[in-house]
Amino acid sequence: MFDRGLHCVGLWHTHPESSPAPSSEDRALARDHARAAASQVSGVVFAIVGTIPLPAGLKVWVDNGRELRLAQRLLDTPQ
Ligand SMILES: [Zn+2]
Repeated sequence: MFDRGLHCVGLWHTHPESSPAPSSEDRALARDHARAAASQVSGVVFAIVGTIPLPAGLKVWVDNGRELRLAQRLLDTPQ
């Protein structure tokens, strides 16, 4: 995929924990994709859905090839 100039701009999956946190494998995966795409995009979005209902169960990070930072945490809002 990378050889053809195609890059993934985001990855997502679920975790069996209420408030998800990226595992060491998740971090390595995000870093690999971010570095592979660095010439064309400035970062890769990495989302994990935990076991508590959305939006609180969703956490989003961005890996810019150097670090994985929490981008946004969607908190419960009045509906
Ligand atoms: Zn994971």
